[in-house]
Amino acid sequence: MSTSPPVVQKDSSQIRQKEMIAAHFHRLALSPETGENNVYTFVPGNLTELIRAFDLLPVLPEINALQSGMRGKSREYIALAEKAGHSEDVCTYVKCDLGMMKSGNIGPTGERLPDPDLLLLSYTGCFTFLKWFEILQQEYKAPVVMLHVPYQGDGTITPHMRDYVVEQLRDKVIPALEEISGQAYDEAKLKGLLARSRQAEDDLVWVLQSARHRPSPIDAYFGAVYYVGPIFSAFRGTEEAVGYYRALREEVEERMAAGLGPVTPEGQLAEERYRVVVEGPPNWTSFREFWQMFVDEGAVVVASTYTKVGGTYDFGFRHDPEHPLETLADYCLGCYTNLNFPSRIDMLCRYIEEYQADGFLINSVKSCNSFSAGQLLILREVERRTGRPGGFIESDLVDPRYFSPANIKNRLESYFQMLDQKRSGGH
Ligand code: SF4
Repeated sequence: MSTSPPVVQKDSSQIRQKEMIAAHFHRLALSPETGENNVYTFVPGNLTELIRAFDLLPVLPEINALQSGMRGKSREYIALAEKAGHSEDVCTYVKCDLGMMKSGNIGPTGERLPDPDLLLLSYTGCFTFLKWFEILQQEYKAPVVMLHVPYQGDGTITPHMRDYVVEQLRDKVIPALEEISGQAYDEAKLKGLLARSRQAEDDLVWVLQSARHRPSPIDAYFGAVYYVGPIFSAFRGTEEAVGYYRALREEVEERMAAGLGPVTPEGQLAEERYRVVVEGPPNWTSFREFWQMFVDEGAVVVASTYTKVGGTYDFGFRHDPEHPLETLADYCLGCYTNLNFPSRIDMLCRYIEEYQADGFLINSVKSCNSFSAGQLLILREVERRTGRPGGFIESDLVDPRYFSPANIKNRLESYFQMLDQKRSGGH
């Protein structure tokens, strides 16, 4: 009997994405020698094009935390943070990041990450962002610049809100970036970066919307977290991002033309039995096991809210190079974390209808208040409006103590049985 572990199947875009991210971590590790400066910032409301317009390198602590979770390092980092007094209720991305810092700031690829040259706190709806960078400011003694993004309380972006953000970009953020980079703001350079973002965003949206097709050629949650990796992290505005999204689109076009479903860790999905929409972030510590539970049932996620956390491009927003600061303001204002409950509910209902989903599932993450608050209300309201059944499961982002495989599998099996009964007209 063979004892070798099963071979995990990856499509070529996934391999390319991993290489891009690893190369970025390597470049950061070398930065103390190369003299490149960096900016720590958050995924929702990230100003990657503006950062790169000053030849600065973005560092996203949430990406570091999720990568640490996927590579089995988060348990020990969280334990270190809790030992240092951070409570069990604190967002586990924060604790994972603090534990990583206390362990010498060794990044997910095993190389040391540089200390921040600037903390760019782009505040888009999650209060934890404020507290997180307050701690990093104390630990690293790094300068902080804050961009306050008004919450979309009424579900709209007014001209006044846009002007308020643009003013801060001009008067606070740009001067701070000029200071640490030693470069003057170059609007033509920013416009070039924004034009490349737009190209990549067009291809990403095409890929995400390919899930309207039957069978869906992608999994828009488990598979799509790889797809959004470059655009949500350090690569928006780069030639690498343009190349990656063009190649990804071609790969998905081929799969769709051949009538194939998504590539899962076990290989090509043989049959699409259920189409579901998912709300909430995935669990990273048991990511593959979690995905496999869907694969075992023949369930494909056709749309998800999590893959919009770094931009809701599928509803039409694109970075506009002709209005560089205004478009950055609109981007920040439109982030998923900055949307109110009615907007989030509308989004889920729209996905269920447009992607012809059989139902929807909420993965309620223990430590993320930004996503989890109000999810039971969302569940009831989306069920009422669409008539499609909702399911509720619970796990965590990067704390393995809160991933209970037997419990989750049980709930998923019951949920899919219920979908079967609905199909056959039962109650
Ligand atoms: S609470 Fe949620 S949105 Fe806020 S930092 Fe943590 S994971 Fe991100």
